[in-house]
Amino acid sequence: MDMAKLFLEKVTSPLRDKRADTNVRDYVKELLASQSLPPEELAALQRVRLEALLRVCAETVPAYRLPEDETADTPAAFWKTVRPLTRAALRNHGGDYLAAGADRETLIPAMTGGTSGPPARFFTDRVTAERHEAARQRGLSWWGVKPGSRGAVLWGSPREWERFGGKEARRREWWLKDRLVLPACPLRAADMAEHIRKLNRFRPAYIMGYASSLYAFAQRMEAKGLILDFTPKVVLSAYEMLFDFQRETIARAFACPVASEYSARDAGVLAFECPQGGLHIASENVLLEVLEPEGFVPMPVGQTGLLAVTDLNNLSMPRLRYVLGDMAALSGVPCSCGLSLPLLVPPEGRVEELLLTPWGRLVHGHAFVRLARLSPSVRRFQLVQRGPERVVLKIDRDLSRPEDDTEEFIAKARSMLPGMTVDVLMADDIPLTPSGKHCYALREPDPDFDEAPEPSPDLDLDLDFDSDYPAPEAGA
Ligand SMILES: [Zn+2]
Repeated sequence: MDMAKLFLEKVTSPLRDKRADTNVRDYVKELLASQSLPPEELAALQRVRLEALLRVCAETVPAYRLPEDETADTPAAFWKTVRPLTRAALRNHGGDYLAAGADRETLIPAMTGGTSGPPARFFTDRVTAERHEAARQRGLSWWGVKPGSRGAVLWGSPREWERFGGKEARRREWWLKDRLVLPACPLRAADMAEHIRKLNRFRPAYIMGYASSLYAFAQRMEAKGLILDFTPKVVLSAYEMLFDFQRETIARAFACPVASEYSARDAGVLAFECPQGGLHIASENVLLEVLEPEGFVPMPVGQTGLLAVTDLNNLSMPRLRYVLGDMAALSGVPCSCGLSLPLLVPPEGRVEELLLTPWGRLVHGHAFVRLARLSPSVRRFQLVQRGPERVVLKIDRDLSRPEDDTEEFIAKARSMLPGMTVDVLMADDIPLTPSGKHCYALREPDPDFDEAPEPSPDLDLDLDFDSDYPAPEAGA
């Protein structure tokens, strides 16, 4: 038998069968059918799925078992007993959230991101991963991408890359999802021409990545005069907040529209932007609540608070009312595009990126991003709060620019933090988070104004990390 034929039979076919074996296509069909249901029918569908999840929790998940003296006769009564789940609680009691009936064969290990403290490990499952992938494909369809079309990923997470190995990640994405993977962690200027050549050959319908990776890629394309010889339907920014200036540069360089997805490695694909600019919640998959940061009390529609996510699919390791750490608001206004999926006001960023001034005022790291844009010699920056009244401003200065306008940025940043000492540190090595994201501000743990991170006992499970799906961040 010739080698090519042998390869096709022994390697290609089983992998292709594996791709065909997923339920993503069917899930996309379901989602496309439900996205235009009357709002009350959509809400009823969500309630049915929530009730099924609550039943699993009450009966089989140790963390949700009620004490002997408490009873809840209905799902609504049970829901009232459920307290929001923080990342620290998940980290310290993770094993208690695993359902007794979970099929360990299909569990997918995952890890929370975050800027401070050790990450929490948890498990998701194949159904959950496929339903989130379906929500992404449904969102892409709003931009003209046919479900199942080939895509390209700018891979931004060094941790995932290490875990799966570059080759392995490429193989999985290519064979299982028809996605071309281009490493962007870090993105090397010398590789740009090769990346463009690969994209031109593969001709993906969409290109996805972190906002910061796509922006850096687009900047390099423009600086080197590189263009694609085809037009993708859309570029998809995922897992990170997309700023307007980033969107403009990306749209110009790739010559196509840019869509934003609101997704998190701890929670999957939560909302997807439509061409009219509405960020539609995938409410068949998730229930989103906005809670007061202090008492975790649900807040009225329109008000900003902490976002809590209940994934309606993950029956293997349910996390009810999981506090994600993002500040956001639910919108009560319908979208002009006609989809009945409710809208989320675009999240304002992670609560971990808030600086706390001595007067009790909170200033978000994103507030400094626009200031930095006015000083082109500031390539990157990061504010690190080292105590109640002290902040270190790290600046990565672009030395190739003749003018130095960092002083203007420093003065404006100081004026936004009255009463605080701002020490400036020129640094070209501002570290990324373990998942490869840039963090504009962070607070170093200080017993005076922050809880110290708790130790992280590992989950008592011996599972094979070599599952068919990378962790959610990798695009599952
Ligand atoms: Zn819309």
